[in-house]
Formats: sequence, C-alpha cells, structure tokens
Amino acid sequence: MVDTMEKEYKENHDFLEAEGLTMHFPAKRDSLGRPVSWIHAADDVSFRVPKGKTLGVVGESGCGKSTVGKMLLNIYRPTSGKIYYEGTELTGLAPRERRPYVKRMQLVWQDPYSSLDPRLRAGDIIAEGIDNFHLAASAAQRRERVEQLMTMCGLYPEQAGNYPHQFSGGQRQRICIARALATDPEFIVCDEAVSALDVSIQAQIINLLKDLQDELSLTYLFISHDLNIVHFISDEIIVMYLGQIVERGTMEKVYQNRAHPYTKALFSATPAFTAAEKQHKTRIILEGDVPSPVDPPKGCRFRSRCPYAERRCEEEPQWHEVESGHFVKCRLFD
Ligand code: SF4
Repeated sequence: MVDTMEKEYKENHDFLEAEGLTMHFPAKRDSLGRPVSWIHAADDVSFRVPKGKTLGVVGESGCGKSTVGKMLLNIYRPTSGKIYYEGTELTGLAPRERRPYVKRMQLVWQDPYSSLDPRLRAGDIIAEGIDNFHLAASAAQRRERVEQLMTMCGLYPEQAGNYPHQFSGGQRQRICIARALATDPEFIVCDEAVSALDVSIQAQIINLLKDLQDELSLTYLFISHDLNIVHFISDEIIVMYLGQIVERGTMEKVYQNRAHPYTKALFSATPAFTAAEKQHKTRIILEGDVPSPVDPPKGCRFRSRCPYAERRCEEEPQWHEVESGHFVKCRLFD
C-alpha cells in the first residue's frame, strides 16, 4: 500500500517548479558602463509543471515567455527567483553540479533553418548531445543511437549523411527534435517549435511531440503565440503579459472560462473552427500598444489597455481562485 502511494506520489508530484523568476536586462548604461535603466523581461513568474504533462505558455511577442524558457535551461541566469527540479534547487548549483541537469533538460528552437549548422551532416547534428556527454562507447554505438533517434522522429536513417539544406522544413524540425532527444532528456522546452512551419506540417510535428511524450514520459514547456496549438497540446496553461503571469490553470478551465480581460482578448483573436464558434465569436480589439518593458505601468501592467481599468487598478492586483485549479490576477475578482 505504502509502495503504491509512494509510486502515485512520484508520478503526480510537481516535477519542475519556478518560484518568483525575475529577469532584468540592462537597457541603458552610463559613461562608466553601469546600468541606469532595466528591461523588465520577466517579473515574479511562478508555476509548476507536473511530470509527464505539458504546460503551455502564451502571450504576445515580447511578453517574456521565451525568457522564462531560457531561464529554466540556464541560458539566462535569473536576476532573482528559484528553479526546482524534482525538489533540487537548480539556481543555487555550481556549473559542475548543474551539468547532469543540462543533460536532462533540452530545447527545441523556433527556427529549424537557422538552428542547424549548414556545414554539418544530419547524423552529426543529432549526435551533438551524445558527443558532449560521452554517451556512446564506440563509433558503432553512436551510429546506432543516431539511427534509432532518426527513426523515432520519422526520418530515414539513410539520410544521416545529408546536409540540412537537403531536408524540408518539417524534416529539419524533426532533426532538431532528434537532437534534443539524444541525451535522453526528461524535460523539453519547445520555444515556438512549429511557428515557422506550414499549417499541415505543424500538425504532423505536434502529433510527433505528443507521441514522443507518451512513449518517453516527457514533460514539456510549450511556448507559443498560437492559442489553438497550445490548446491542442497543453494540459495546463499560463498567460503572460508584459513580463508577468496574469492567468493560469488547467487548459480546459482557462479555455472554457477565460477570466482575465487580456486572456479574453487574446483568445478572441484566434480563428474559430466550428460554425457555433463562428456565430458567437466577437473579436476584442485592444486599444494602444504594449507599454515599454523598461518602464512598465505601476499596479496592473495591463491597465493602459484594459477596457475595465479603474483607479484601484493602479495598485498591484492579487491572485484570485476563479474555480478549483484556475487562477487570475485581476481586481475585477476582488
Ligand atoms: Fe483590467 Fe484592472 Fe483587471 Fe488590470 S486589474 S485587468 S486593469 S480590471
């Protein structure tokens, strides 16, 4: 009984946790090179990703979603905040201690064209992680693993000797996925992973990611500006605006019962698929531009564009539980 409970706990507990992640980049420096103003790329971003699930991250371009992914993978060192991986705090680790986690956490980039070195053959690109972490004892073992990864990702092993320009866009993204899988990771950040592809190819790549998730028990952070894709692939979602999370919850609850005025506007801009949706859909047009991340509005950051903004929105809104497993940061729910 205890064993079963322990197993259940291990399967369901939060696998990855971000606590108060903040990333400020210098915007301007004085004559001595000291920063005098900062870009608030991400502020106080907290979330949890359960094992084997997908957390979708949505928001307009510049909202901080890619910055969050890069902080998780240590590409950016957070200005403040903590990252926990199966209970271990990664942010406090020395580079050598962090190395095993680099192997377990990988990235699939947005652009399958620029992220592949045109001078390398597909097999060598896929083997990058195998080489970096010395995961093959011999050349034969390396070749075998590359062939296995190519097959898993829907590529022909005979293509291992081809260069990136000899592949289509979809095939290049399959190479990127195979490269990410080479270290046998548990967690993958997919940063706009299908945005550069045609719609029909997008569906194939999304299905491949889902199949791989089932097969290998992968956990994804899926960053995208395309809400329909995020809806299809995600179990949970966070909505970001100007460096902050404004709404979070299980995908279906947020989709069915959008609470934050920004989330409503964002979803209203996605194309409707069914006749019923088309009939009921009203596009919410937001006035004004996204404010500068160098000087974001005080209080609610969305207030300069929110149709419901009032005086009290000049103060920082608190989180409210709209329903079980669904939270919003907006004063309308005070
Ligand atoms: Fe709009 Fe105020 Fe809610 Fe911000 S807190 S989203 S300004 S109503």
